[in-house]
Amino acid sequence: MPAPSLDGVTATAQDSAQTGTAQTGTARSGPPTEGAAPPPDRPAGETATPRRPSLSPSRAADFKTCPLLYRFRTIDRLPERRSPAAVRGTLVHAVLERLYDLPARDRTLEAARGLVGPAWEELRADPEVAALFAEGAGDDQPVGPSLEARSLQAWLASAGRLVETYFRLEDPSRIEPHGREQLVEVTLPDGLLLRGYVDRLDVAPNGALRVVDYKTGSMPREAFESKALFQMKFYALVLWRTRGVVASQLKLIYLGDGDALTYAPDEGELVRFERTLQAIWAAIERAVATGDFRPNRTRLCDWCDHQALCPSFGGTPPPFPAEAAAAAGWSTLPVVERD
Ligand code: SF4
Repeated sequence: MPAPSLDGVTATAQDSAQTGTAQTGTARSGPPTEGAAPPPDRPAGETATPRRPSLSPSRAADFKTCPLLYRFRTIDRLPERRSPAAVRGTLVHAVLERLYDLPARDRTLEAARGLVGPAWEELRADPEVAALFAEGAGDDQPVGPSLEARSLQAWLASAGRLVETYFRLEDPSRIEPHGREQLVEVTLPDGLLLRGYVDRLDVAPNGALRVVDYKTGSMPREAFESKALFQMKFYALVLWRTRGVVASQLKLIYLGDGDALTYAPDEGELVRFERTLQAIWAAIERAVATGDFRPNRTRLCDWCDHQALCPSFGGTPPPFPAEAAAAAGWSTLPVVERD
């Protein structure tokens, strides 16, 4: 039996659901090229905040990578620089989202290219984004923007190439998304609130779900596959808990090298994944209660904006912001000594 079709085309061997098996396309390339820039918790411009502390895929990944990084981003909410690569990711996501506003027959490559300019005009209204392309921007950055970043036209052209690559991987005229940039959230029985944004959700006539995420980097090496799938399993868990349906396919589309990684989770795996998230959350709660967020030095520190405040680099973190944490809904907080 062929797998349920989600886009009008009977699923191929690559697209078909195989329980617990990751499937990839062509040869693997190097590690992701999006650096350590955190994936956004919400679409650009959206300012809604959760009603109480919650866990998203990116913040869970932060804590796993480095508890102190989690604190800086989630509790201190320290500002971070935006990189040209991250802004390009936002731009390409906006183009692919808007492409599906068009009638199916009009979703052509030309139409998609035509969406790049207007999406950029909206993004550049943010002074921080505009400053990235100001003369001399990035000259002082350790992992500075590439030459592309110093040439807006070249940078826009690179975004256009990513959009072009998308058309080699999917035929948007044959897909009718059920949701785009869709917030998915669920409260687990123990009170843990999970929330995140799905790039695209497809629902077949028979109810089969496909979760799609666009990456502007390249396919990760096999050793990094599970890290890439962490985010997708998170979404699959939330959808299963809210809809009672295990997604038939989790699909990561890598526009950097025109490859795709597909995976079919099963129910038992999602149960185990739920326990993993609960364990991560318990560790976060312990860290919040004690104020003890340890740094974890790895090669990803090269991309961290907070080295000056990090003990691993001779810095001193600011006092734990208990008031801000309380305002964000954390109830068990450490006693903060004040001078
Ligand atoms: S520099 Fe490294 S160890 Fe320090 S907070 Fe950043 S990621 Fe963590």
